[in-house]
Amino acid sequence: MKEEFIMTTKPNLSKTQYIKGLQCPKALWFYRYRKDLKPEIDPATQARFDAGTEIGILAQKYFDGGIEITEEYWEIEKAAQSTHELIDQGCEVIYEATAIHPTDGSYSRIDIFRKVSDTNEWDLIEVKSSTEVKDYHFDDMSFQYYVFSHAGYKIRKCFMIIINSKYVRQGDIDPQGLFKLEDISEKVIAKQDTVESLAIQLGYVLNRHDEPDADIGSRCFAPFECDYMHHCWKHVPDYSIYDIYKKKNADEIYSQIGSYDIQDIPSDLFPGGAKLVDINCYQNNTEHLEKDKITDFLKTLEYPLYYLDYETVWPAIPLYDGSRPYQQIPFQFSLHIQEKPDAELQHFEFLYKEPTDPRLDLTERLIPLCGDKGSIVVYNKSFEMTRNRDLATEYPQFAKEMEAINGRIIDLMVPFRKHWLYKPEQMGSYRIKDVLPAYVTELSYNELEIASGDVASEWYFRFVKGALSEDEHNALWSNLSEYCKLDTYAMVALIEALKKLVE
Ligand code: SF4
Repeated sequence: MKEEFIMTTKPNLSKTQYIKGLQCPKALWFYRYRKDLKPEIDPATQARFDAGTEIGILAQKYFDGGIEITEEYWEIEKAAQSTHELIDQGCEVIYEATAIHPTDGSYSRIDIFRKVSDTNEWDLIEVKSSTEVKDYHFDDMSFQYYVFSHAGYKIRKCFMIIINSKYVRQGDIDPQGLFKLEDISEKVIAKQDTVESLAIQLGYVLNRHDEPDADIGSRCFAPFECDYMHHCWKHVPDYSIYDIYKKKNADEIYSQIGSYDIQDIPSDLFPGGAKLVDINCYQNNTEHLEKDKITDFLKTLEYPLYYLDYETVWPAIPLYDGSRPYQQIPFQFSLHIQEKPDAELQHFEFLYKEPTDPRLDLTERLIPLCGDKGSIVVYNKSFEMTRNRDLATEYPQFAKEMEAINGRIIDLMVPFRKHWLYKPEQMGSYRIKDVLPAYVTELSYNELEIASGDVASEWYFRFVKGALSEDEHNALWSNLSEYCKLDTYAMVALIEALKKLVE
């Protein structure tokens, strides 16, 4: 049976633009007309795009045997025409199938378009790299349904393909195990009443010559941190009411006091808990110190002290047998050891320089270095302890040793997280990178090529995938070494700083 399709209007609003416009009409307008404001794609964002592409290709294997629409993303009418032609030829699975709304010109590409056998109905299937369906995914699919159904396709169901977090790799990736299908048809159909009017409104935004009005606020953070905050938030202090309250509550506070400045928050609107310490220190330019609690914390330390930090890689598609999607795989550690107070520091490190699984070598190297007595100091113990438990599960022959290491862990983040000490320059943060320069002014992460765990992970991932240039490859090992070493040396310096504060 030959199907009839309607295509009368020039392409207008895309799915990406629809989602952007739902977050904020001004963001949509900037996206179309102010290319100069769009930040450059940084390596982290590029890595996310690359991972998304890899996931998309794998997900096609979940519905094998399809044909891909290969027109460029701007060749919308040609892509819609190619989709019709494939259907006319009897193709039942189409990747990147494209449709255009006949009157408002909205257009959409669906990752997988699958015909329901022996019917003239189709399923819409969209691939996401998350492990759960998120709220904005319903809007995403609702727009696709709106466009495809108005373009003349009979849609039976709408599915998301998401990552199955329980999948454990063994050998080649098995798409049937890595992904799972979620039927979201009901919610998508329930939204159809509003999609049309929203698409029309956003179409008007796209056709405006002048910038639309939109207040800054919590909308700038969800569902994504907006690309244009560097422009719209220029007048807001770096540390503002949005760092003190939950984002929606901060909107409310702003409507009451008419200021983003923490200095202007009246005492009757102060929050409780640690944030109260932040506000008091900020408004009075004072520091906070609870000597007794810090003294008690320091008493829990038993020499020799082992300062330990891991770097990890956490790919959506597991790299190694026995690992799960997004599992944090340690490939590096730094260990500073101090036998007794004032003794010279010893430094050890492990950095796995092969593209194969680093975990066994890392475990075998770590255990003897940690000895069997003394505190193991980390910053954010749940991270290191979970890695150790994972290693114990993967290598049961070392389970006893890894459990023993966990039994000796002391979390240096606790005094900072609980605000037993606080300085205004921390700007509400207890991350080690923000705490360190406040208490040890001569140390900072600013000069490092790799200055965060996220960047370390991305570089290492690109190394494993063979995607580094020769220059990047040459710099990789020393950059990783310097970064991880500073993480443990920072803890040594912070402990010394705490001791001085309570003397
Ligand atoms: S920063 Fe906020 S107000 Fe500005 S475009 Fe983005 S979402 Fe809209």
